[in-house]
Amino acid sequence: MSQRTSVIAGNWKMNKTTSDARIYVEELIGLVAGKEGVEIILCPPFTCLAEVNAMLEGTDVRVSAQNMHFEELGAYTGEISAGMLTDIGVTDVILGHSERREHFCEDDESLAKKVPAAIDAGIRPILCVGESDEEREAGSTETKLERQLTQDLAGISGGQLAGIIVAYEPIWAIGTGKTATPQIAQEACAFIRKTLAGEFTPAAAAQVRILYGGSVKPGNITELMVEEDIDGALVGGACLTASDFARIVDFGR
Ligand code: PEP
Repeated sequence: MSQRTSVIAGNWKMNKTTSDARIYVEELIGLVAGKEGVEIILCPPFTCLAEVNAMLEGTDVRVSAQNMHFEELGAYTGEISAGMLTDIGVTDVILGHSERREHFCEDDESLAKKVPAAIDAGIRPILCVGESDEEREAGSTETKLERQLTQDLAGISGGQLAGIIVAYEPIWAIGTGKTATPQIAQEACAFIRKTLAGEFTPAAAAQVRILYGGSVKPGNITELMVEEDIDGALVGGACLTASDFARIVDFGR
């Protein structure tokens, strides 16, 4: 484990109504009260963001959106801007999740606009990158990661880089129960850090928190967290139950 503060983020995806969210957050607050040395982030759907944020007032748990548009306002039906998110107290935003890339035509060109737009508005991006099964089989994992990192982060400076979070999420491990081995996850996260050092500066790259995401559960978080370049986890399925998410937050203790 590194000296960087660990991050555990829970991505609810398209799950939970506002009343489900109330029950969950109330339980979670009790379970994680007083936890130190780990930053906790909840990523509810847009409809629950304001309510979850209000319930978390006075705690250290941060609230993240799962997507945003790069423009400040305008004729973009169905979209949400960074300013609308800060207006309700949102601090972070997941950008480039593979489900958005796959199902909603999210591309590197729009991410290159979204990342600086989020930072300019005071929102911290959690940028997701990762390869498919076919890309790993073909030996092109590093090419894919390098392309996503260089294109998606083209609009920011080294100073800004240090404040963002990158999530390595191999597509073949998301929602499949097929977690990457700690060695595979570490190799990819180390490669991401090396790429960022080359594109920006080694000092900025050393500060970036890099999360692993892909079928993280209470039973495998500890072995992942001991790896040098893995600073935390982005959790999907296993975060939907407050008790499981709290056990992941408790990794290694
Ligand atoms: C995710 O969607 O970011 C994710 C990692 O999902 P899961 O934990 O369910 O694989």
